[in-house]
Amino acid sequence: MQNNYLFIGAHPDDIEFGCGGTVAKLVKAGHLCTFLIATNGDQGSHSIPKTQLAQIRKQEAIEAAKTLGVNDVRFLELPDGLTHFTFDDKMAMIELIRETKPYAVFTHSKFDHHPDHEIIHKLSIAAIKSAHGPWFKEAQGSPHFVKEIYGYEVWNPINEYQMSQDISSFFELKDSALKQHKSQIQDYPYTEAIKGLAQYRGAMVKGKGLAEVFEVLRTEFLC
Ligand SMILES: [Zn+2]
Repeated sequence: MQNNYLFIGAHPDDIEFGCGGTVAKLVKAGHLCTFLIATNGDQGSHSIPKTQLAQIRKQEAIEAAKTLGVNDVRFLELPDGLTHFTFDDKMAMIELIRETKPYAVFTHSKFDHHPDHEIIHKLSIAAIKSAHGPWFKEAQGSPHFVKEIYGYEVWNPINEYQMSQDISSFFELKDSALKQHKSQIQDYPYTEAIKGLAQYRGAMVKGKGLAEVFEVLRTEFLC
């Protein structure tokens, strides 16, 4: 059965970093994935002017998603380094959930204490809860219940996880997707970081291979 999945990231490269292999795996299995990128990432460089960087990073995010087989990329275009979310941000996220009706949502882990990631985690959970039920009529669309919610890791590896995905066959796609973020990889060696983390997760979960791990925030099926 084909399902919809919604991936939410604070910055233009977070989803690929935390879930790129899993996204490629879901797409190969015939599922539909939507990316929602909350901020414009315009604080991500000391050398590129902010307005120019926001446009560059938007295009990089579209190309990275395409590399994984995802063509539906939405942008909230909030300021990078945000300190709070607003009622309008929450309404926009509720509307997207009601429009795409995801079976599962992947967002930042509650254990990720990067300030922007923390806020987007809280915004995601608030929107998911409010999208379900006959309330928040300002947000268009009919109520939708998200059956599963997962938290992913980015720069701060999480201590507790309950779900893992073997991404050995999808690592190259994940790496290719992250390489689309050209404005970022000149400052950080992404390939080394994601390879090291995936090897560590693979070794700890199954004793071999490459893996991504997730915190289970909601599931209808315990396994
Ligand atoms: Zn981030």
